[in-house]
Amino acid sequence: MVYIVVDKDKCDGCGECITVCPGDVYEFDDEGKSEPVNPDGCTECCSCVEVCPTGAITVDVCEE
Ligand code: SF4
Ligand code: SF4
Repeated sequence: MVYIVVDKDKCDGCGECITVCPGDVYEFDDEGKSEPVNPDGCTECCSCVEVCPTGAITVDVCEE
């Protein structure tokens, strides 16, 4: 399984990762930060890493 982490201190809640992800991996948590609730849906496209304006997302198969 792909290893996905969102650094909540860096996430500003823009929602870009939620919009771009084809696998519905992300949802907002109670504080309006992105949470990778469905890592099994990841297709390893790396779009979330590319789109995140604050560099908050780490996906282990994607180069940063
Ligand atoms: S790599 Fe692609 S499929 Fe995986 S979490 Fe990021 S946007 Fe979604
Ligand atoms: S794209 Fe980055 S900053 Fe925006 S909600 Fe997702 S993790 Fe947070």
